[in-house]
Amino acid sequence: MRHFPLFRDIKGRRVVVSGGGEAAVAKLRLLLKTEATVVVYGVDAHPQIARWANERQLIHIARDIRHGDALCAALVYGANEDAAMDARAADIGHASGALVNIVDDLDNSDFITPAIVDRDPVTVAIGTEGAAPVLARRIKADTEERLSPTLGILARIGQGFRGAANALPHGRIRRRFWSRYYDEVGPRALTEGGEEAVLAALHTLVADMQSEGPEIGNVALIGAGPGDPELLTLKARKALHEADVVIYDRLVSPEILELARREAVVIEVGKIPNGPSWKQDDINALMIEHAGGGAHVARLKSGDPAVFGRLDEEMDALDAAGVPFTIIPGITAASAAAASIGVSWTRRGRNASFWLLTGHDVAGFAEHDWRALAKPGEAAAIYMGLRAARFLSGRLLMHGASAETPVTAIENVSRGDQKIVATTLDRLPIALTEGGITGPAILFLGLSPRAALAAADDIPEPVPATGGH
Ligand code: SAH
Repeated sequence: MRHFPLFRDIKGRRVVVSGGGEAAVAKLRLLLKTEATVVVYGVDAHPQIARWANERQLIHIARDIRHGDALCAALVYGANEDAAMDARAADIGHASGALVNIVDDLDNSDFITPAIVDRDPVTVAIGTEGAAPVLARRIKADTEERLSPTLGILARIGQGFRGAANALPHGRIRRRFWSRYYDEVGPRALTEGGEEAVLAALHTLVADMQSEGPEIGNVALIGAGPGDPELLTLKARKALHEADVVIYDRLVSPEILELARREAVVIEVGKIPNGPSWKQDDINALMIEHAGGGAHVARLKSGDPAVFGRLDEEMDALDAAGVPFTIIPGITAASAAAASIGVSWTRRGRNASFWLLTGHDVAGFAEHDWRALAKPGEAAAIYMGLRAARFLSGRLLMHGASAETPVTAIENVSRGDQKIVATTLDRLPIALTEGGITGPAILFLGLSPRAALAAADDIPEPVPATGGH
């Protein structure tokens, strides 16, 4: 970030524009929205500038800028569309200690003027450091569409009401009050009865919220998917945004946590394999403590909460404590992994069922119905299978699985550093080591990446030994 965005108070300050042409007019359209005293220097002025001068919106001085003209100015704009004149304006501005902007000349400017979405007092400023004006325009258009034209009115009325809102306890309740105002109560009152109705509605809302009993918190048990924030459901996104407290597992990606509100309390309860870890009881207690205090808790779990996520233990604990909860499903790692390698979990004529297995359970390496799993055509997604890879491969071969059974490991599914290793059952442990797979990873038993299938003329043959893709 070469340019740091900030909002400068220029109420009553002088802003000087050197130049009277189109470039000046474009900047003036923005500057006249402010409460600054705008002075334009230029021999020939655009008719629009003359009109504004007539309406006393700005002062036009029909000569070129001179030393001393920028005295006490907060900002000086060089809008002469002439490099020499602009350089002169910059000198004059700098001599008076003003910040200088030369229109369309980033390198000779002290600051840049962003694209602006104006819902005064709410202002959105968009900057790309000159890199992508097209993008800035598009973001501006999107934002214009998203922010209701009445937002400014609501914000202004809300601003005047801040003192009265202090009757509500500080923190969560007051935050909820403002959310309800901006989301429902304010817009509705404004449409139905204009600005006066908004003020009345604010008073009613404060009274209502004062008479409501203590808030009951809740927990959303949320599937955060495999990492890519675009694989979150809309529901998960909404719950995350509304949460006062976010409790997340180690595998939940930072990009997803970014979607939480800035004021939210964010707590990691990672269970590092073999490392120090949070005990399930402590996680339960943490959720209950926060929800018990009235908070909306987002409990983020990687993938889908119902897949190897100890969901039942958390639900039981919440039930026992009388804390209401909802479950928001997510995209499980194996589902996203299948998409990554272009395969289907099930396939007509190949497998009519699909296994979700864990390589590990409370007792260590997990035992399964190896004989059934070893049959040709079976397909399985193995979670937490890396450390158990040698054991898995050994058990399956011992129970009659073909050494050539395809196995595909997909590490960091849906993330920027996703890695795929396609191998066969007998070579699994060594292929994982050679491929540098350290996890988290899904192992697909009986499935190989689509490209390899196509090369083999759609005959489900094993993929040639190892190799990352
Ligand atoms: N509830 C999760 C699974 C949690 S168990 C889900 O539905 O996906 C943890 C295991 O999930 C990891 O050991 C790994 O096997 C798998 N896993 C989770 N996220 C993953 C990712 N982004 N890429 C590959 N595997 C992942």
